[in-house]
Amino acid sequence: MALDAVINSKNLLDMALERLRKSLAREPLNPRSCIDSPEDWAAAARLALYIAAATKNPYLLKRFADSESKRFLELMRKVPGIQDLRCKIEIARDLGVVAKPAHEVVTGIVVATFGNPVAVRWTSYLRYAPQDPFWAMINRPVVKGWVVVPLEDFERLLEEAYEEQILKTARENELAVGRVAASIDASLVEDLLKKYAHKPLKAPSQPAEGPHPPCMKAILDALKSGDNLPHTARFAIATYLLHRGWDVEQIVDLFRTSPDFNEKITRYQVQHIAGQVGGRKEYAVPSCETMNSWGLCPTNLGCGVKNPVQYGRKVTVKKSN
Ligand code: SF4
Repeated sequence: MALDAVINSKNLLDMALERLRKSLAREPLNPRSCIDSPEDWAAAARLALYIAAATKNPYLLKRFADSESKRFLELMRKVPGIQDLRCKIEIARDLGVVAKPAHEVVTGIVVATFGNPVAVRWTSYLRYAPQDPFWAMINRPVVKGWVVVPLEDFERLLEEAYEEQILKTARENELAVGRVAASIDASLVEDLLKKYAHKPLKAPSQPAEGPHPPCMKAILDALKSGDNLPHTARFAIATYLLHRGWDVEQIVDLFRTSPDFNEKITRYQVQHIAGQVGGRKEYAVPSCETMNSWGLCPTNLGCGVKNPVQYGRKVTVKKSN
């Protein structure tokens, strides 16, 4: 369907705005209209993406893409017609993920242990695996360049690939996004921008102990850009900022830029790290060794400290000498 026809259709525009609103709020969609009129459904989904991109707010766009990819994962796991592994591998191919049933590259214990595993080409694996120690390739069976993963991890990789595909579609259709921006009344998305657009970080104006170390600065920069950070990075920055004197609410506000932000869960997790709930144990800032093993040390242990909390003082002392 031509873009102008979609923009000028009140029905499709309403559908697109509803989809955008529900995705940003992480609410379920009514699948009825997909079954009744799949063409309209697809056109409205594309228009919703263009509207998200037209806001020029990268955080809002990322949140939309994140939510849509989670919905995609749910469908992958639930829709009866695509539960055959071959079908999922076809979908993977459309998303640029090279994969095949694991028994085609390996037999025996690995296949038996994982039940219904999939072999993913290492290049695809590295591209889409979350930045998390659990996903480190060193912790996975690798056979002749194929990484063997259980089905649910394979589906998770496809979720990442799907999210990237959404963002790529927005990037590659700048003209269409521009047309949407010029045609649609900005007030229609004003409330969404107010609610979901990136909020500036609240940070203490005067750091208590000198500058942040490169590892923590990198995490803070990633948060400012609305990146979806691995759990290890979230844990590290929370422990570090608590050590610097931030309170729980300031840290919760910091995480508002995460595409999968959930206020209740985040507050509980930060309180847990601060030792205010759960086992009442306050967690220490991970050592540089640990940060490095998590892939979070950009200097490869080059700061001359054993723990990131020592960095600020070290730089301050050096300057005053
Ligand atoms: S050496 Fe330590 S303080 Fe420096 S970047 Fe690495 S983890 Fe951070």
